[in-house]
This record gives sequence, C-alpha cells and structure tokens, in this order.
Amino acid sequence: MEPIRKSDKLANVCYDIRGPVLQKAKQMEDEGHKIIKLNIGNLAPFGFDAPEEIQLDMIRNLPNAAGYSDSKGIFSARKAIMHYTQQKHIKGVTLEDIYVGNGVSELIVMAMNALLNTGDEVLVPAPDYPLWTAAVSLSGGTPRHYICDEANDWQPDLDDIRAKITPRTRAIVIINPNNPTGAVYPDETLKAIVAIAREHGLIIYADEVYDKVLYDGVKHTSIASLSEDVLTLTFNGLSKNYRSCGYRAGWVVVSGDKRPAADYIEGLNMLASMRLCANVPGQFAIQTALGGYQSIDDLVAPGGRMRRQRDLAHELITAIPGVTCVKPKATLYMFPRLDPQMYPIEDDQQFIAELLEAERVLLVQGTGFNWPHPDHFRLVFLPHEDDLRDAIARIARFLAGYRKR
Ligand code: PLP
Repeated sequence: MEPIRKSDKLANVCYDIRGPVLQKAKQMEDEGHKIIKLNIGNLAPFGFDAPEEIQLDMIRNLPNAAGYSDSKGIFSARKAIMHYTQQKHIKGVTLEDIYVGNGVSELIVMAMNALLNTGDEVLVPAPDYPLWTAAVSLSGGTPRHYICDEANDWQPDLDDIRAKITPRTRAIVIINPNNPTGAVYPDETLKAIVAIAREHGLIIYADEVYDKVLYDGVKHTSIASLSEDVLTLTFNGLSKNYRSCGYRAGWVVVSGDKRPAADYIEGLNMLASMRLCANVPGQFAIQTALGGYQSIDDLVAPGGRMRRQRDLAHELITAIPGVTCVKPKATLYMFPRLDPQMYPIEDDQQFIAELLEAERVLLVQGTGFNWPHPDHFRLVFLPHEDDLRDAIARIARFLAGYRKR
C-alpha cells in the first residue's frame, strides 16, 4: 500500500513546544520517572487554580450552554470584551468587531487563513510564540522574522522590521507582553511600529494574552489604542490572566479603519461561521472574569507567588557560569542565554533532550521559538519554589558537565 502522507501544507509547519522532546518526556514518565516540567505555560497543574467565582459561574450556566451560540459569541461575553477594550482605550469597537474563539489559538489560525495567499509575507518576531509562525506557514504565507534585540531588553529592532518589508508584506505580528522573553514594549516602540504599519499599509496583529501578568509596576499599552486608522486585530483571552487555559476562552477584536477591510472581514465571518461557534461553557466564563477582581493581580504583586518564583528562578539561573538572562517584566517565562564559548551547542533540541535524559528536567530549546541561534532556552517558572530550586540545581549540574566535555 502507498504510504499515507501528511499534506504539503504542513511541510513548513513546526510547533516544537509540544514536539519530539515532549514525547520523550511522556515516555520516560510512563516508565515511572518523575520529571520537573519547566516547558509549558499551563497554570492549573501547578496550583494556580482558576478563580472560584469563574468556576461556579460556569457550572451554574452549564444547563444554558448546550446549544450552539452566535458564531461570533454570546452577547454577554462580547459586551464584557467591548467594555474591556474601552478600559484599554481602544476606540470604536462595536459588538460586531468581536469574535470569541476556542482560545486565542483558534483565532490566530483563523485570522491568517482569512488573509493570506501563497507567497504573502507576514513579519513575525524572533523569538516568537511559535504558533504565529506555524499559522502563517499553514495558511500558505511566508513568515519573515524580525529580530527582538536582547541587548535592548528584547525590544523589536525597528531597523530590522523596515529592512524586511517587501511588496508582498501584508502584516506585522506583535507579541506584547512577549512569550518567550517576558518583555513589555514602551509606547515609543509601539508608536514607531504603528507608523511603519501605516506607511506600508500593513495590518497589525497584536497578541496581548499576558496583558495582566505584569511585574514591577510595569504598565501595558494596547497598540490598538495608539491609532484610529491602522487596521489592528487584538487577541486576548482567559487562559493566562484568569488561569483558565483549559476553558478555551479567547477573543479577537478588530479596530482601526475597517472600510478598506470589508472583504477581509467577510472572510473572518465566513471562517467563524464554518466552525459554528466557540465552546459555549467557556464563553460564559468571560463576563464573570472580566467583571470581577479575580485576575492575576495578587499573584504578580510584591510577595505574590508568581512574582516570588520569577525572582527566585532569575536569581538562580543567572548564578550559573555563562548563563545570562534579561529579567522578565511580564508573563510566566524567561529566555536565558548560554554563552556559546562556554557551551558550544550545535543542536539545541539535542541539548534539551540530553538534559532531560540526564537530569529529568524538561525545557524548550530556543530555536523552537524561531530564534536563529542554538544558544537559548525557555524556562517556565510556574512550579513551586522547591521544585524550581531542584530543577535549576540540576540544570547547573548538567551545564557544569557540559563545559568539561
Ligand atoms: N499567544 C501566546 C503568546 C501564548 O503564549 C499562548 C499560549 O501559551 C497563546 C497565544 C494561546 O493561548 P490560548 O490558550 O488562548 O489559545
């Protein structure tokens, strides 16, 4: 029989966060090994429970959630999202401009599918949350990576953005706060990106799913609040800010001048209709979440558990010789650098697999985030302090051995 092959559409699609090393880790767990997981930003398994009010409200609403909803989402959720956009100073958003999805993930793929023709280019940050690169490729587009500059607190390199614009460039993706670097962009940077988008007629896709997971008094600005003309799609949801990854409740809001984009918006509407609707129980969580005080604020405030774990992980990881790391100002992640002189890694997936095998600690390699060099990894600081100490001590031991090779 002819082998059954995956489609050519998947030829350039890559999503290493759940890639081969995770499979290896699962196999090791099946064999009875305990693995410390610093690989995925999934909050609930680490004791960061979803706020009780949200859980109770979902349970209460379950009997009303058995039917399909409007393709764009239930009224109460979209109304609450509309209010949220007002709080973020995004102008001119109506209920029709809001789409609720099964997490932000579904909407990212939908937004790219509705836009791209073969060969269209999208500017995506390096490093990025790799779903963006994968969604561009899956949709037939070509991701063009612009560098975020580690020496400048991981801010986007504006010259690199300009240099990578071609006549085929349709859009620019901004992940702010950033996964995996934990950077938050100042208004000047965001304004410069708006100016570039305006000059070249680009759509802005703004992934703001961590906009409440902020440390050290940092403020977050939605890039959509900085222009009333540039077409901007802002993505957000409950997964991180409300510790509800599994409820699959996300949304995208279209703002800016929508008149020239009527055809694109028709495409979005069509794709939203084709999948009928997002899961309705998850939609019921949205109004409750956005209307209350249950967000992540206490956890990221001084003394809060997430903030303590960020400080501890950063202190311990940067105490290892040859490891440097820009301290994250937001999110659940840090993206440390391994000095290539000390650690001459050629294949960082192999490096991460060896660490797993030797020390039973699971990380994700930097190239999995479309970082061009094998000299970084992403560390998730969700495990409890004892586990973080243990894991980072093991990483240190592994690196000490690696230096002596
Ligand atoms: N965007 C970023 C930057 C993320 O880190 C993640 C998940 O880790 C997502 C989107 C997906 O979020 P959701 O759970 O809403 O699909």
